[in-house]
Amino acid sequence: MSRNEPCICGSGTKQKKCHPDIAPNSRAGEVLLLYSELEEQINQHYTQPNVQRPPCHEGCDSCCYHNFTITEIEFKIIAREIKTWTKEQIEKLFNETFRQLNLLKQDYPEVYSNLEASSTLNTSVLKKQYEIMSETYGIPCPMLDTQTGKCSVYNARPLICRTHGTTHSILTEYIVCNKIPSNLENAKITYNAVQIHDKASSWDKIEIGDQLFQGRQYPIIYWLKLFLEPYKLTGKVQIPNEGRDFNISADAAKRQQVARMLGLR
Ligand code: SF4
Ligand SMILES: [Zn+2]
Repeated sequence: MSRNEPCICGSGTKQKKCHPDIAPNSRAGEVLLLYSELEEQINQHYTQPNVQRPPCHEGCDSCCYHNFTITEIEFKIIAREIKTWTKEQIEKLFNETFRQLNLLKQDYPEVYSNLEASSTLNTSVLKKQYEIMSETYGIPCPMLDTQTGKCSVYNARPLICRTHGTTHSILTEYIVCNKIPSNLENAKITYNAVQIHDKASSWDKIEIGDQLFQGRQYPIIYWLKLFLEPYKLTGKVQIPNEGRDFNISADAAKRQQVARMLGLR
């Protein structure tokens, strides 16, 4: 693919001016391609005549108060945006992240200690994490501008933020947000994103021999903690293994990741 061609993220800008650092067949490239595919499908769906829309609209931040967990690769795409921010913006984010984490630690110590716990060979930690995912603790996502209701990393937002409310995939009942009381009712009018979620299901998996290991997912606030902690020492936002996940093919990246997964939390 030529770098003069439209970018894989679907922005319409040439790749060399948009995501020149991300190879289309890398792990991050696969994620951006899926975001773009989803965007196209959602747009096509809702521009059909007589199709109802869910109450989701620009500036609505009701789902930004849930503690969704996301994969590491999705967070790396967010971290790539944060790296371009000014020092003041990064420091504000840093302070806000640790302020909110302290509140979480104080008010919900069980939730916090679960995030800190190692999930290696301990499935109860991951099970508990799925429960955490369905709860809201009144803590806004640190990427949310609470004054305007806008996402500060909108073009890099993770899959869950692109699908929650506007699509459906899981058919057991849950409350979507304070504007959408039932996902089952919402599913009657929203776009079916089962195939998109199926494609994304490999983002946190890694095969070692004939075994499939599950990589850890965290809420954005906890990923920020992990990525921003070194900032205290270096004054820089660093993305671990950025070259592996952004520049080389996903298959080669997976092989390189095996060794790391074996010792992963
Ligand atoms: S990443 Fe953006 S859209 Fe997603 S929860 Fe955070 S503020 Fe909301
Ligand atoms: Zn792009």
